[in-house]
Amino acid sequence: MGAHDPLLSKLLLYHRRTDVVLPLPRSALWRALAGWMAILLCLGVYWFELSQTHQSQLDEVEANVRLRAEQTVHALALQVSTMIEKLDYLTLQLGESWLAEDERTFRRTVAVAQGALPEGAVVQVAIADERGEILFSSLVPAGATAAATKVSIADRPHFAVHLKRVEPALHISHPVLGRISGQWTVQLSRPVLRDGQIRGVIVVSVSAEHLSQALREIFPDPADVALLLREDGAYIARSHLLEGVLGKKVPDDRSFLQDRAIRHGFYDVVAPVDGVERYYAWRRVPDRPLVVSLGLSKSVAMATVRDSVRSSGLYNLLTTVALLLAAQWITRLFLLKSRQTAALAEARERLDFALQGGGLGAWDWNCVTGENRCNAQWARILGYAPGEAAPNFATWYTNIHPGDRDRVHAALDAHLRGETRQYHATYRMLRRDGETIWVLDRGRVVARDESGMPLRAAGTLADITERHAVELALDAERLRLTTLLQRFPGGVLMEDATGRVTIVNRGMCELLGLGDDPDALQGLTHEALCARIGPQRAAWLHVPDARRDGERRRSVELTDGDGRTFEIDWVPIMRDDAQLGRVWLVRDVSDRKQRETMLATLASTDALTALPNRRSFMSSLEAATAALRSNPGRQGVLLMIDIDYFKRVNDTYGHAAGDRVLCHVASLIRNGLRQQDVAARLGGEEFSALLLAVGLEDARLLADRLRARIAESSAEIGEGGEDGVTVTVSIGLAALSSAGAEAVLKQADHALYAAKAGGRNQVRVYAGEQT
Ligand code: GH3
Ligand code: MG
Ligand code: MG
Repeated sequence: MGAHDPLLSKLLLYHRRTDVVLPLPRSALWRALAGWMAILLCLGVYWFELSQTHQSQLDEVEANVRLRAEQTVHALALQVSTMIEKLDYLTLQLGESWLAEDERTFRRTVAVAQGALPEGAVVQVAIADERGEILFSSLVPAGATAAATKVSIADRPHFAVHLKRVEPALHISHPVLGRISGQWTVQLSRPVLRDGQIRGVIVVSVSAEHLSQALREIFPDPADVALLLREDGAYIARSHLLEGVLGKKVPDDRSFLQDRAIRHGFYDVVAPVDGVERYYAWRRVPDRPLVVSLGLSKSVAMATVRDSVRSSGLYNLLTTVALLLAAQWITRLFLLKSRQTAALAEARERLDFALQGGGLGAWDWNCVTGENRCNAQWARILGYAPGEAAPNFATWYTNIHPGDRDRVHAALDAHLRGETRQYHATYRMLRRDGETIWVLDRGRVVARDESGMPLRAAGTLADITERHAVELALDAERLRLTTLLQRFPGGVLMEDATGRVTIVNRGMCELLGLGDDPDALQGLTHEALCARIGPQRAAWLHVPDARRDGERRRSVELTDGDGRTFEIDWVPIMRDDAQLGRVWLVRDVSDRKQRETMLATLASTDALTALPNRRSFMSSLEAATAALRSNPGRQGVLLMIDIDYFKRVNDTYGHAAGDRVLCHVASLIRNGLRQQDVAARLGGEEFSALLLAVGLEDARLLADRLRARIAESSAEIGEGGEDGVTVTVSIGLAALSSAGAEAVLKQADHALYAAKAGGRNQVRVYAGEQT
């Protein structure tokens, strides 16, 4: 396939794209989303509950603060009531003393009374007459009273109120800036009665600052505040920042201003004086037109619980963030796992698809539990519908043909023990319909425990019934072929396309000197085989390139050192243009060669004299004249030799004796010539000789010597002791010419005829037609 194949390029491109991300399964996304919804819902509920808890903690603390404020204000109201009671009693007693005592004694009584009270608490004790004119003031020294009479309190409510009253009672005034004392004081006043008649009014001025001081001692923290108010909301005392409120009233919206019947209550406000938000609890002082109010600072009261709520909120926030981060991490892992699971499922599906395409069943065996999961194809091979076969080991094992069970068991056991790298078995199985099929079962242990015991194994099963039948047929075919090859009278060697030996018979082994075990050569490469047989025999196995040379067969004959001849056929095994292998057929043809040589010799030799016959001689003569044509400088002479009166020999001594004479003459001719010359019997008693590289004169001399030797010697013709027979010959000579064999023959014949005619036993050279 070419490098520019578009499909291949596309596939390569796909494989190179390692960044391809598998799509996330929609279900995983939904599940992640649902998980997040649940987490957020739980967090929402948790935070709602938490805020509720915090709120209830705050509420509880607030309630406690209110309760404390209420209890404290209750106590405070009683304390104030006692104090007012005390002051009321003092006022009453001093009023009575004023009537009973003279001024000097009264002044002393006042001083004693003032001394019994905290210092500075009672700023002034004053007595006004029934018109409101000051008769006595503890602040005005004795003797200066006349000047003091100029002061009148007739316009002051704490005086006027007693004139209107039927029942004498204590009156508590708004704080006023004393005209004599110059201090802010609250005027506690009572009528001075004698015999039921008002004789005047006694006014005890109590320092507002002193009252505030008393409150401040109970509530020293400026965050908290205690107030002493008149029923109409006017400030009498304030534990802190008194100067800011003196002469003022609380705002009208305070609950104790709304309904006088309500004895106590609460309100939450930011105090206009100091801008502090407080819980206020108030209570009316029993039997007095006074209200005490206690304000506890919200921020101080709630500080601890607020801190605890804040730190709890912070802690929970951190925990929530950590939880969300953890959830995010878990989501990531979950999505990653989902993606991997999806990828695995897809890979499994592809594998299944691939296995299905290959007709392979797949199995996955849990060696511990015996569960054996098989795919649909596995079930199909055994004739089950998908899901019909029980997914266990027994389903497989019981379906194995009983005859093969031990063998399969042994193969599986060997692999489970770790003795083989793979479990591999070909065996018969019984299908559900009773039919027997052949299967190829392969697998491996994919997980073992620490001690090496198998935990899981997986593999494939293929129905190879058809293939098995084909293999059986092939085996039979192979057996037939092997038998044929072993019986073949010669050597057979077959190599596959890669040059490996696939078939070699015993004959070839013997011929190549490779012992008598052909199986030992199976699979050997061509080179290894050549190295074994040595260079001389390796030449027999030369491999022509059938594709390049287009050669379809090559047949050669080679002779080894012992003179044996081998015929070697090389045949490539071709399918279309592809070479699938090659075959060498080697046969020992020495005997045939010998017979052929013999026949050839017979065809060119005279049977009686063993000299070349006419046909052989003629071809030699033609070759010589042809050589002369191509090389005119060459020389040669043809001799025609005929025995004189041979007929008489036959007639006299018989045909057999004639034959002996013929052999005798032939031998003399052969021996009378040089090695390179050719002698032949042309027929009857006619001989011929071809002298090469010889001039006519030399040839004539040689011919004449030959003639003389024949004439001088006699041939033995009898069995024992008989006389020899002497014959003569006539010889005609003609120089070889480019005219051709027949022409030269004719000329020599002509010269021979002349020799005969000239009286025989002589040599004549052809010298033209007239000779
Ligand atoms: P000339 O001197 O004229 O050659 O006389 P000639 O008798 O030799 O010649 P002719 O041609 O008349 O006779 C040849 C004889 O050779 C005739 C034949 O019987 C004899 N002859 C031919 N071939 C053979 C043979 O193979 N063996 C024997 N024994 N005789 C042969
Ligand atoms: Mg003759
Ligand atoms: Mg003759």
